[in-house]
Amino acid sequence: MTCNAAVIIPAAGFGARMNLDCPKQYLLLAGIPILVRALRPFYEEAGISRLVVAAPADQLHMTRGLLEQYGFAEGRVMVVAGGKRRQDSVKAGLDALGPEVEVVLVHDGARPLVSRELIRRCLSVAEKDGAAIAAVPVKDTLKKGKADGRVEATIDRRGLWQAQTPQGARRELLERAYRENGEREVTDESSLLEQAGIPVTLVAGAEENLKITRIEDLGVAERLLTIGELAMRIGHGYDAHRFTENRPLILGGVHVPHPYGLAGHSDADVLTHALCDAILGALGRGDIGQHFPDSDARYAGISSIILLEQVVALAISLGASVHNADITVVCQAPKLAAYLRQMGEILSSTCRVEPNRINLKATTTEGMGFTGRKEGIACHAVVLLQQLRQQE
Ligand code: MG
Repeated sequence: MTCNAAVIIPAAGFGARMNLDCPKQYLLLAGIPILVRALRPFYEEAGISRLVVAAPADQLHMTRGLLEQYGFAEGRVMVVAGGKRRQDSVKAGLDALGPEVEVVLVHDGARPLVSRELIRRCLSVAEKDGAAIAAVPVKDTLKKGKADGRVEATIDRRGLWQAQTPQGARRELLERAYRENGEREVTDESSLLEQAGIPVTLVAGAEENLKITRIEDLGVAERLLTIGELAMRIGHGYDAHRFTENRPLILGGVHVPHPYGLAGHSDADVLTHALCDAILGALGRGDIGQHFPDSDARYAGISSIILLEQVVALAISLGASVHNADITVVCQAPKLAAYLRQMGEILSSTCRVEPNRINLKATTTEGMGFTGRKEGIACHAVVLLQQLRQQE
């Protein structure tokens, strides 16, 4: 590949089919936003000099912040306001490109499993032939239905392909297609090129390069990410802290009213500590004391939820994410039942999983032992991490 190439990611759609209150490309897939996963393989291709994300006009600031948080350099990745239709978003991206860009790829912000190999194939074919589109042959028999729900006809599937992205073209061809046909309503860029009489070459796509359009697709994509290796790792954490006066009692990020708090360098959230230790254990990365030493003034009084955030970020940077956790707090008093739900919400959102993936239980020891004598609180946590295949 010798051409100067760019990719435009139209991500201004609102996911109307999913009934969401945020655009679907911001949903988490195994702990990482779909949009970030869709963008990263392009970012890792040195031959792509520019990445333009066309985001909803009212989400520009949020999108820029998100990309910065995931380490995308601002100079190379640009966020522009997308339009109402997909083709308007691509046009906005096209207009934002500098004159040096010769080949332009377009990739759906909701296709998070695109491989670098497919990107390279599309780029080189677009460069050589002028225009390229990733697609897979239709496998299933196709039926045309009638309004009454009966079959009207069987469509011959020979020669039929399902369009995917990336799609791309030499820049002057794509710009010409927009000039000539940009006003027509289309569902992809290839249609504009075809209508302008520009030949588009089919490139073998991948079945796993699926587009997230329904909530169920998230589960399918998550399973695809875990194929190929023994993908689970287990971890265990145990912690205990002593009661002390004049401190709030914090458990699972929740302030629980009680005459005593727990002694410790941080906020002494024994529950969150046990969970952090379980995650670190599953990662094979030691324990919480090694990562956040109590000799370090930065951690004095710190919310343990911040520590958990950092532990989860470490897991994700190592290609793992929390699958589920089961946590048992051992505590004679106070009664915790009324607070477990709120703790679960905080912990699950920090672990970037659905609330039902974090199970919380509280037990007494019927007066036996140090917890039974109300000297302190202990906590056990076990966690399962899924090790995700790295996108190549
Ligand atoms: Mg501790």
